[in-house]
Amino acid sequence: MVDDASRFGFETRAIHAGQAPDPRTGAVIVPIYQTSTYAQDGVGGTREGDYEYSRTANPTRTALEQALAALEGARHGLAYASGMAASDAVLRSVVRPGDHLVLGNDAYGGTFRLIDKVLTQWGLEYTVADLSKVDEVRAAIRPETKLIWCESPTNPLLGIADIPALAGVAHSAGARLVVDNTFATPYLQTPLSLGADIVLHSTTKYLGGHSDVVGGAVLTNEDELREQLFFIRNAAGAVPGPFDAWLTLRGIKTLAVRMERHCDNAEFVADALLAHPKVDRVYYPGLAEHPGHEVAAKQMRRFGGMVSFTHADGEQAALDVAARTELFILAESLGGIESLIEHPGRMTHASVAGSTLQVPAELLRLSVGIEDGRDLVHDLRTALG
Ligand code: PLP
Repeated sequence: MVDDASRFGFETRAIHAGQAPDPRTGAVIVPIYQTSTYAQDGVGGTREGDYEYSRTANPTRTALEQALAALEGARHGLAYASGMAASDAVLRSVVRPGDHLVLGNDAYGGTFRLIDKVLTQWGLEYTVADLSKVDEVRAAIRPETKLIWCESPTNPLLGIADIPALAGVAHSAGARLVVDNTFATPYLQTPLSLGADIVLHSTTKYLGGHSDVVGGAVLTNEDELREQLFFIRNAAGAVPGPFDAWLTLRGIKTLAVRMERHCDNAEFVADALLAHPKVDRVYYPGLAEHPGHEVAAKQMRRFGGMVSFTHADGEQAALDVAARTELFILAESLGGIESLIEHPGRMTHASVAGSTLQVPAELLRLSVGIEDGRDLVHDLRTALG
């Protein structure tokens, strides 16, 4: 396995793509090639595999990249030291000073910080738009627009963007659509097959899946863009170490079974919250009343493991709930097997305070884990009082 991974189902690709037994020893699991450099046959001559220095390439990382590409149905995959390193690489490969991008009005705070605080200093301009409204996105396009930056579902309000429609808007303006697919994962949604040009991941989340590694990835079908991304990554050095690549690869093997359970539990939790008198609004694209439900049902297999809600009694009451849960651990991040709760306004999205991306103060975000769903609902009900 597996030069032509596309003939296999998702679960098979997750376990075998890029992960053939080691040709020398037969090791069934891809080894951790914990080496910085590689012996050369002569000056300028590398041995089989073209490895010469691990910033440029490393076999454990190559296996991860091939597996990720097979899961997203992409020709090329590149792994990074973090999701933000992956976002930075995309931005520096695609935009130049004076260019413009359209950013969703509900986006991960770190992405907003990178664009607003770092890249604007370098001459990038951006417009914020509600990506669930295609006309608003079209109106935000300028002659200098090179990129529409999309999350779907969004972080933390679980908004849904119509990916094929946004791809159409981008392409008719000569721009590209990048989709941050961290919340959905390739198990639930494959944006390249829906018309996107670039897919981005924080592999820290569901792909790694066990809250024990930080990483990122970029996937694309464009050969030239892959060369540019590779050049910049080698020049700037934002690579994951071999052990981090291996941990992520191990997580990927169980992605499908974990995602099914994340989705089961999230649906159960969302229904329970909806029925609770202390809960004002529940944000979950699997709910029939969610404004993006129909679009999500068209482009996603299921609706994911993230649920947000607002407390009917305001910010302090929300903070109290976050302090009272027992199983839902109060922590940033998401996508691990354990359930997490956080207050976006003061935690993950503190960097958007005062901007058009500001989130409601009474909002709580749940990363619903794969524990017994009844225990999770009981924990939330107890904390809500
Ligand atoms: N994209 C999304 C949707 C995220 O939630 C995050 C982190 O929370 C990132 C990107 C950044 O990833 P990382 O923390 O791995 O740098």
